[in-house]
Formats: sequence, C-alpha cells, structure tokens
Amino acid sequence: MALDDRKISDSPRVAIRQLDESAINRIAAGEVVERPASAVKELVENAIDAGATRIEVDYAEGGKSLIRVTDDGHGIPPGELPLAMSRHATSKIDGTDLLDIQSFGFRGEALPSLGAVGRLKITSRSGGEAGVLSVAGGALSPVKPAALSKGTIVELCDLFYATPARLKFLRSDRAETQAITDVVKRLAMAEPAIGFTLRDVGGGAPRVTFRADPETGDLFDALSRRLAQILGAEFADNALAIDATREGLRLTGFAALPTYSRGAAVAQYFFVNGRPVREKLLIGALRAAYADVLSRDRHAAAALFVTCDPRRVDVNVHPAKSEVRFREPGLARGLVVSALRHALAEAGHRAATTVTQGLLGAAQPQAAPSARYQAPQPARSLLHRVTEAQAPTGFDGAQAPTGFTDAQAPTGFNGAQAPTGFAEVPPPAARIDAPPETTDADAAHPLGAARGQIHENYIVAQTAEGLVIVDQHAAHERLVYERLKAAYASHGVAAQALLIPEIVTFSSADADLLLAHADELSKLGLTLEPFGPGTIAVRETPALLGAIEAAPLLRDILDELHDLGSSQTLASRIDAVLSRVACHGSVRSGRRMSGEEMNALLREMETTPLSGQCNHGRPTYVSLSLTDIEKLFGRR
Ligand code: ADP
Ligand code: MG
Repeated sequence: MALDDRKISDSPRVAIRQLDESAINRIAAGEVVERPASAVKELVENAIDAGATRIEVDYAEGGKSLIRVTDDGHGIPPGELPLAMSRHATSKIDGTDLLDIQSFGFRGEALPSLGAVGRLKITSRSGGEAGVLSVAGGALSPVKPAALSKGTIVELCDLFYATPARLKFLRSDRAETQAITDVVKRLAMAEPAIGFTLRDVGGGAPRVTFRADPETGDLFDALSRRLAQILGAEFADNALAIDATREGLRLTGFAALPTYSRGAAVAQYFFVNGRPVREKLLIGALRAAYADVLSRDRHAAAALFVTCDPRRVDVNVHPAKSEVRFREPGLARGLVVSALRHALAEAGHRAATTVTQGLLGAAQPQAAPSARYQAPQPARSLLHRVTEAQAPTGFDGAQAPTGFTDAQAPTGFNGAQAPTGFAEVPPPAARIDAPPETTDADAAHPLGAARGQIHENYIVAQTAEGLVIVDQHAAHERLVYERLKAAYASHGVAAQALLIPEIVTFSSADADLLLAHADELSKLGLTLEPFGPGTIAVRETPALLGAIEAAPLLRDILDELHDLGSSQTLASRIDAVLSRVACHGSVRSGRRMSGEEMNALLREMETTPLSGQCNHGRPTYVSLSLTDIEKLFGRR
C-alpha cells in the first residue's frame, strides 16, 4: 500500500491520557508474563528462593486455565500476604545494592503482575499460621485463615482472561505445555537437590509428565543423575565432567563427546549463578570449543554452569532475566573455550558409547537405557584422573554396562566398576591368527593388539577387556589433522615438490581467489602458481599427506575460502582448512595394512589428542567389552 492510499483522516484522533492502575499493572505484567510458561518460571523461582525441597507444578490446558505451584518452603506469614501482592515489594533485596543479587527474584513484581493478568489465590504458612488471599484484576480480597501444614500454594486460573488480546497470542495447549515443561526442566537442572513434579491435571486423572526426585551427595554425581533424568542416560554416559576456574570465574557441568552431537542446538543448557540463561556469548563459546571436532551442521550437547561473584554479571538486563551480561565477556568466553577444549583433548581417543549402546540396545531391546542407568552407582571420581600406567584397564570406551564409566571418569575404570571377573583375565597368550608383529605389550595398551583387518578398512584389535574395531580411514584422518596442526604451530607444514606440477583448471574467479591466498597456502605446504587464465600449477603439496591428487584438495580449500567473510583471514580459519587438508592425506578405506602398520596406528591414536572422533565428529573406533559381547550372545 502506498503512503498516499492510507486514509489517515478517517481515524479519529485519540486524546493523550493517563493510564489507570490496572493498565499499568498489565503493561508491567506483559514484560514478565508473556505466556503460561513465564508464570510457571516466576512461581517456581519463588519456591526455590523460599528454600523449598519439593516443588509440584500442576497445569491444565497448557497452563491457560490453571497453573498451580506447591512448595514446602518457608512460606509467607498471613500478615504479609497483601504486601507480597503489591508492586515492588520484595523480601529478597533491601534496594541498597542491585549488583549483589543472590536470589532468582528481586523486583517484587511477579506476584502482582500475575494477579493482574489472572485470578490468583495464594495460600501460605509461616510462623505457625496459615492464611489465604485471592486477587482478581489486581483487586485483593481480605486475608482469611487457611489450613496448610507447610509452604506455599499459588494457584493462577484463567490467565489473560481480562486481556483477550494477549490470549489470542497464546499457542496451542500442546505448545504451551512444551514451554512449561522446558522451563521446569531447566530449573530442575539448576537445582538437583530439589525434587520436581510436573502434572497435567486438565480433565481426567492427573498425569505426571515429569518427575525428578531430590538428589543428594556429591555435586557432580547429583548433577549427572539429574541430567540423565532430563536429557537421557545416553547424555550422561557420553558426557565429560567439566570443572575449571579462571580468575574467579568457575565453569562446571557436563559436555558431551563430539560423537554424541545433535543435528540442532537442542541440547545446550547454560546457567549463570544458577539461573538458566540463553546467552549468545556462551553459545558462541561452546561452538568455538567444538569447532575442531564437529562439522558445522552438528551441535554439541552440554549443560554448563558459570558461577562467580554476582557483581561480575548483570542480571538486570532482561525482564525475564533470561539474558545476563558478563562484565568481562572475554574472560567468560575464554574460560568456556579453554575448559571444553582441554576436556575434549583429555578425553582423547574415547569415542561415544552411543554406538556400542545402540548396538547392544538393538540386540537386546529389553535392556532399556533407564534400566542400565538405575543400576547402583559405584562411587565415581569425576575429576580424578588415573594415568594409564596406574590403570591399564581404564580405557573403557564402551563397556559402561552399569551406565557410568566412560563418560565421567576420563580413565576412571577402577576395580569397583570392573565387570566381575574380567579384571584378572590376562590377555590370552595364544594368538593363532595374530599378525606376527603383535606383542604382548601391544595387548596391554588401551586399544589393544591388532588381530586383523577386515573389508580393507576396519582394524580389529584385542584388548585386555574385550575388542576394539577401528575405522582406519577416520582414525588416520584425525591423526593427520593433529600432526598438521602441530607442524603448522611449530614450524610450518613441510612441502614436497612434485616432479611434474599438477595443472588444475577453475573458473577464473576461483583461480583468482586461490591465488590471492597463495602466500598463506604456501605455509601449509601448498605452492600454487598462475598458469594461464583460470588455471593453476600446483608445484608442492604438504609432505605429510604423501602422494595426493591436488585438484580435489584445492576444491575443498576453495569451499573454505568461500565461507570466509571478506573480513576474515585464512589464518583465522586455519583449523578448518587443515581439517580439509587432512581428509586428503588419510589412508582411504581399501588399503591393506600390515600388522605393524595397524599397531602403529593404534599406538598413535592412544597418544593423539581427540583421536576418538574424526574431524567430522564420527567415532574413529568402537569397543566392546567382554561383558558387552556376552550380552550380545544372551549370556548376561
Ligand atoms: P520477588 O521474587 O522479586 O521478590 P515476587 O512478586 O515474586 O517478587 O514475590 C514477592 C515476595 O513474596 C517475595 O519477595 C517473597 O518474600 C514472597 N514470596 C513469593 N512467593 C513465595 C513462596 N513460594 N514462598 C515464600 N515466599 C514467597
Ligand atoms: Mg519472584
């Protein structure tokens, strides 16, 4: 519609006027209470702030007709109920220091806002007395005595009944229920010590849709169990414990191995001082930390908690407090990136258990992951590392039948966890089909002794614990990548001159793009020269790669160059380029390897950081313990 077509004169002019109080209330509410899930968030946060140990959330019709939050916290004395319902009244801060905020709430706005947008009833007990107060359209009823043994019940009915415009923007019951569930689960991750029950009470018998019992004991154990309950046992099985501190900023939590990645960023949870946040800075840091081990279309799974002095982070920047602002953003990002990279490097060659567990699951549908998970948990030492010399059996990539060996304890397969009986079984002395080069020393290594190669791509090795199958192409690709990176970092990648330069033809734009980066590429051992329009002569290739075809390599590098923004330099993407380069030097499937070569590959994998997954996040090997094998054969 063109500007001229608008019939401005048709609409009467509206006089400027003062909004009445109920309107003010609703506007404020609009900020905090956008949908049922935001009401649930405010009420559950209040319950947590009140020191509750159990919180029950009931809802009907996606929370539109009813939300009821019941807690066993310290409650509100009847005399203070009207105050709790008035704006800007809070027990959590005295207003002198808005920077030092230790609680979820601090604005004293949630209850009055909710009372303005729905019919609210609050029943609470404190100091031996219980009272009840109702609010509708912002108007308070007198407080009446009530019968309640402990804590607080807040019931919110008919959300937005007075504001049909808002009601219209609500989504389906299903979508609103999903949002409520998400809010409750996030808070449940933040508070493992608190029990949560989520119930759909709309029509028919109440249905528990989520439940998490209060966890006790070691913080990491408790968190790990809570995460398993929310994200699934597989996440816990595949997650690395993170605990790092930098200049007073601490990062804890769990981050999954790259092999347990997702197609979308659906399993990324961040908490700052216990508060669930969606924070661009942290999301970006997580991506950067995994950039080396995940292709760009895969997303890491993690639940990470940043804790620090509340003064170092501003929570007062978003009405729902779902965003925060770090006063030292560089420090926060650096902490996340370095802690995760370090953990991933330490996890080294271990691949996700997903593969093995999937296999076992397929063979034994009755062995549900939850059943596995609920097996008695042996004491685990999350942050405790055992050197290989101390624990040769510690390389337990996949056997985790009791749920929790691999992921949490980097090498922590201690005696208590060992499948009964196998710890003492020595590697068999007789090796009928063993390659002659294999020695007993090989068998004692985490990835064991190569026993053969099948389908010209898979190395089968026997370990003290079971067997390992290595994808030689994926493994080699990783090793080459790590070698390239190390070479690049120390002295530049050595080049090898081609006897006859390889001539490659591109579009002239692509040839120009490559040649524009010729200097930088020469540091990667790739020497390019112009050779007529759209044509490039390749004179040298990286020596590490051996004899390779230059054309496909250059095409891959072109892809990377196209992805570089004009402001970015090749150096800033060097890892991505090296990763592409590495693909070209890898032992392709189809190459026969001698026993010696295979064992050498296994030994190198054991000492190479991140060798448990290829550059694209696929596992480079899977391992089966004897226990797993016995399960496959129904012996267990
Ligand atoms: P805020 O949480 O920002 O203080 P609210 O409007 O959410 O503001 O709550 C107002 C006050 O009511 C709180 O400061 C607290 O003292 C009291 N309160 C609210 N909910 C509860 C609860 N579930 N248990 C105990 N006290 C509560
Ligand atoms: Mg509050």
